[in-house]
Amino acid sequence: MTAIPDFHGPHAEPPLPEHATLTWYDPTLRPPRIRVISHTCECRDTTYELCAAAGQGFVRRTDREKQTVHETAWTLTATARRIFQQILHGEAR
Ligand SMILES: [Zn+2]
Repeated sequence: MTAIPDFHGPHAEPPLPEHATLTWYDPTLRPPRIRVISHTCECRDTTYELCAAAGQGFVRRTDREKQTVHETAWTLTATARRIFQQILHGEAR
């Protein structure tokens, strides 16, 4: 049995044809302490992290190939969690 390394997470499914289009912003400058709740697998060039900070939630997208970091609007933690799930299922990008 192979142990699953720490960094391993779920893979985001390819976007569905009718997926919702998210608005991605430049990262917040000087953000409060950010806690990563869950993240997609780091074997992919693009990773998504569900983050919480200051009682709010958002999803952060890191593209290692382009070396860019973007995040969704900060919102309710429950809403951010739903957005993260939609990304995983290819329902939003
Ligand atoms: Zn992987």
